[in-house]
Amino acid sequence: MALYVYKFGGTSVGTVERIKVVAEKVKKAHDAGDQIVVVVSAMSGETNRLVGLAKEMQAQPTERELDVLLSTGEQVTIALLCMALHNVGCEASSYTGSQVKILTDSSFTKARIRDIESAKVHADLNAGKVVVVAGFQGVDELGNITTLGRGGSDTTAVALAAALKADECHIYTDVDGVYTTDPRVEPKARKLDKITFEEMLELASLGSKVLQIRSVEFAGKYNVALRVLSSFTEGKGTLITYEESQMESALISGIAFNRDEAKLTITGVPDLPGIAFKILGPIADANIEVDMIVQNIADDETTDFTFTVHRNDYQKAKALLENICTELGARKVTGDDNIVKVSIVGVGMRSHAGIASTMFKALADERINIRMIATSEIKISVVVDEKYLELAVRVLHSAFNLDKQANV
Ligand code: ASP
Ligand code: MG
Repeated sequence: MALYVYKFGGTSVGTVERIKVVAEKVKKAHDAGDQIVVVVSAMSGETNRLVGLAKEMQAQPTERELDVLLSTGEQVTIALLCMALHNVGCEASSYTGSQVKILTDSSFTKARIRDIESAKVHADLNAGKVVVVAGFQGVDELGNITTLGRGGSDTTAVALAAALKADECHIYTDVDGVYTTDPRVEPKARKLDKITFEEMLELASLGSKVLQIRSVEFAGKYNVALRVLSSFTEGKGTLITYEESQMESALISGIAFNRDEAKLTITGVPDLPGIAFKILGPIADANIEVDMIVQNIADDETTDFTFTVHRNDYQKAKALLENICTELGARKVTGDDNIVKVSIVGVGMRSHAGIASTMFKALADERINIRMIATSEIKISVVVDEKYLELAVRVLHSAFNLDKQANV
């Protein structure tokens, strides 16, 4: 007998009909003798609808009340799913986050889970019941309702799986797994059978929005085997786990990209200690996140400094940088908000030379100009002009043979 936590996202519970399909799936697993805890999101579009209502009422909704409002979306689906389970003769009880209880800190709208009481859930499971828990929500020490940030149901599921010592946590969604890249950009993209937590983190943070990043971090930290699979089709999905020797020995597991990038350069900056801080300090103070940072070697007494930000922050960052430029007596500020970042990711690159040159050659053969390069242990990212995004992803996909099954 195994214990599974199943999580169903908004589209999987988007209608009464779909909730019935979920109930059938859960019943089948339960009938086979496994213990099943189900975490559900709100029906698709519901959380957005609630946010919209709040904003109609208040330009900046009071965060405590916003969480009271948003948590109702999941309360609807846990009740409906239990009813659907009862209809098919499966014993089940629903619990809100505070009923379980999922204890969080008090950071409304982005609370972090501190502890989960698992006794009640275990008691229900041992009595042969399915347990249905509302995703995305918790309760703080004072009894206030909190929510975990958008997409937070994934984190609820993983945290529950960790607390219950579940055998696997299944994230059922509208895709059938994690792909080598976005199939809308490269139709030859292939579903991966396995991927490591590290790789998944890189792919998720680079824009492959399959899972909430925090849930992957959590799963890695507590070693929860995580499986992403489709709620609509059969299949084993993609298992996210620790690196094993039998793992697909692909050099590169996937190609991620991010369209919403912009870059800013300040040239002729005096080459002195404290300059990077003087440039990036005000940017950080304005809550603008900086991604890649490149500083040139100074050939005279001055240097050039380039960094990337989210495209939405471009104008704000540029204005700040122009002030900094005057203050530092630097030469000028230039920028470009028509750039994208493309990254190749793979734990296999750690032990192999030549990955970067394969990447750069593939791009050069298509005459794609690389504007910036950054590397980490398992990732190489390049910034290119936006118009080359699709082409870059496709040539890299084929340069690393990602359309073919990796040799083991
Ligand atoms: N319903 C929440 C959202 O839309 C949480 C989730 O679906 O994971 O963000
Ligand atoms: Mg989601």
